[in-house]
Amino acid sequence: MTVSLCGRKVFVRTFGCQMNENDSEHIAGVLLRAGAVRTDRPESADVVIVNTCAVRRKSEEKLYSYLGRLSRLKRKRPFVLGVAGCVAQVRKADLLTKLPFVDVVVGPDGYPDLPELVVRAAEAPEVRTELGPVWREIGAEATARENPWSAFVPVMEGCDNYCAYCIVPFSRGREKFRPLANILAEVRAAAAAGALEIQLLGQNVNAYRDPGSGLGFAGLLDAVAAVPGPAWIRFITSHPKSFGDDIVRAMAASPKVCRALHLPLQSGSTPVLGRMNRGYTCEGYLGLVARLKESVPGTLLTTDIIVGFPGETEDDFQRTCDVLREVRYAGIFSFRYSPRPLTAAADIPDDIPLEVKRRRLVELQALQKTIQVEANRAFVGRDLRVLATGPSPKGAGRFSGRTEGNLVVNFDAPTDPTGRFLTVRITGSGPYSLHGTAV
Ligand code: SF4
Repeated sequence: MTVSLCGRKVFVRTFGCQMNENDSEHIAGVLLRAGAVRTDRPESADVVIVNTCAVRRKSEEKLYSYLGRLSRLKRKRPFVLGVAGCVAQVRKADLLTKLPFVDVVVGPDGYPDLPELVVRAAEAPEVRTELGPVWREIGAEATARENPWSAFVPVMEGCDNYCAYCIVPFSRGREKFRPLANILAEVRAAAAAGALEIQLLGQNVNAYRDPGSGLGFAGLLDAVAAVPGPAWIRFITSHPKSFGDDIVRAMAASPKVCRALHLPLQSGSTPVLGRMNRGYTCEGYLGLVARLKESVPGTLLTTDIIVGFPGETEDDFQRTCDVLREVRYAGIFSFRYSPRPLTAAADIPDDIPLEVKRRRLVELQALQKTIQVEANRAFVGRDLRVLATGPSPKGAGRFSGRTEGNLVVNFDAPTDPTGRFLTVRITGSGPYSLHGTAV
């Protein structure tokens, strides 16, 4: 069914990770192709889609409070309200009971049908949360990119790992891989549109297998690196369990593959990793880090840490701190454990008191801050290549960008360099960013 949303104003709000940002580009893309136009204010929208994240309880709570604000807006001025993404997928039709002002509930596999769902929702609420077993192509032609210089390109979706705390296998379903030819077609299209950076996305990109040829992630990296144009290639997220030496070699072989890697640790305690069902030991993780540092020198690592997983002792927690001291991450994303529905850990007593979780998180973050202060200071006086991403929140005449190692740089420049590479002389540093002047 061909559906027209001719002239209807659409506002899309995104919660969550890069995968969700990319999904929002797809959501906006399919609606714009059906004739809708974008607005940057929900107050003037005919259709509001909220793309949600269910990974942590806090993110879900934040979402409900945002939807509450939209319901008050809707009472003053009607519009179609859709809830997309992970919360939609996990909560399904129950969302309509909890939030009766919602008109459309749509999971990741339903985005191509959004124009139709939006039109039909005018008569009755619609729920579309089936997850299919094969990749449902949306492609470059229906992707409304936030900016042309940095292109998200999904390569796989879902996860078969079932880490004990993680809702993703339920919100995104089992692993499914996008055909290599379609990935390369999107990379070429992004390159033709001026992309300087390609970010390959998936919940577990290292597990990638081309459905036709069986080519793995290392081969995919080689193939993407061979596309002329983009200077930087990044990928997220990697799983230490499936990060083979062939991927280390592919990173080392191509100067286009950024010397930056997000490698979630979660805990530095092997017994805790076992209970988390992570599939590696702390020693195995550190061995991989050592091979990476040796083969791809200068790689900056970032990670995810959960504190207060059930049964985490003080000793377990200190082991996590030891790993931070040893690896010296460029950044961490750290969270207090919270049980999520459907997961294996939801059946284990959440036995670490809240005040202990809070104290461990504060201690961990303070340690990491010290590490980042020291590490960032080492860049002062150096000239770094930076991809400018836009005006800096730090004030007029200042801009922001990222280095190959994914460090944030705020800098002065005489003209707006957004969307271009430039060299920045680093004159100062803090725990979370560098600053300097364009040279
Ligand atoms: S690897 Fe584990 S943490 Fe990552 S998405 Fe899969 S289940 Fe979740």
